[in-house]
Amino acid sequence: MLENKVAIVTGGTRGIGYEIVRKFLKNKARVALFGSRQETVDKAIASLKEENENYEVIGFYPNLSSEEEVKEAISSVVKEYGKLDILVNNAGMSSATPFDNHTMEEYNKVMDLNVKAVYNCSKVALDYLKETKGTIINTSSMVSIYGQPSGVMYPASKFAVNGMTKSLARELGKYGIRVNAVAPGVTETDMVKNLPKEMIEPLLKTIPLGRIGSPEEVADAFLFLASPMASYVTGEILSVDGAARN
Ligand code: NAD
Repeated sequence: MLENKVAIVTGGTRGIGYEIVRKFLKNKARVALFGSRQETVDKAIASLKEENENYEVIGFYPNLSSEEEVKEAISSVVKEYGKLDILVNNAGMSSATPFDNHTMEEYNKVMDLNVKAVYNCSKVALDYLKETKGTIINTSSMVSIYGQPSGVMYPASKFAVNGMTKSLARELGKYGIRVNAVAPGVTETDMVKNLPKEMIEPLLKTIPLGRIGSPEEVADAFLFLASPMASYVTGEILSVDGAARN
């Protein structure tokens, strides 16, 4: 589905991002994954190459809130693969700190990664995406629709991601650039796998499908939105959450 396409996936070293990278590679894209450290980037690439030595995948670890470092990394990708068709802004962190104990330091940490990085990568990628009539796909969250009872800046940051998604879809449509987001529900990444049974069971009751989603199921939504099957889909926040409500 992605033959001859070049993609960047931020936060591609583990969890949802890693499955997006795998799914894109399986569908014949060439992929650059961005992580936070050389060690985790190297490890992810080694494990992908172990799965299939013909996968065309490279990695970088820019500070995503630095425009200069993002510029350098994205231009290295284009130098290596010749162009950019798909930007996936997936790197993100969650937060559950009660408002009473919330600090400006935490505010900045969450906003830098979940919002500023999306802005930076999209801005730097824009000229390349204009050339290919490319696409941007952001990772939002179900909490961007319902909020959450503690950790206010996490949903606030994802509301901002939805705002950028819908607004850039309207602004960049004239270049043929599509901008969408995927809003996953609770997804079985390492963090969720390690939660105690007492926390998981009540959670399952809030999900009509009665189970947690897998990173592969979430990655399928990214594949759809990146592919020609979604050629007339833009400005969409696609929920992949088993109809969870909280
Ligand atoms: P994860 O913690 O398993 O992976 C996060 C990824 O982001 C890693 O690849 C990591 O290297 C990267 N990252 C973290 N901090 C970084 C930094 N400072 N600079 C660059 N990269 C950094 O998380 P995940 O669950 O796979 O989450 C991926 C995305 O999905 C996030 O945007 C998250 O908000 C969203 N999400 C996750 C869930 C869930 O239940 N897991 C639900 C809804 C939305």
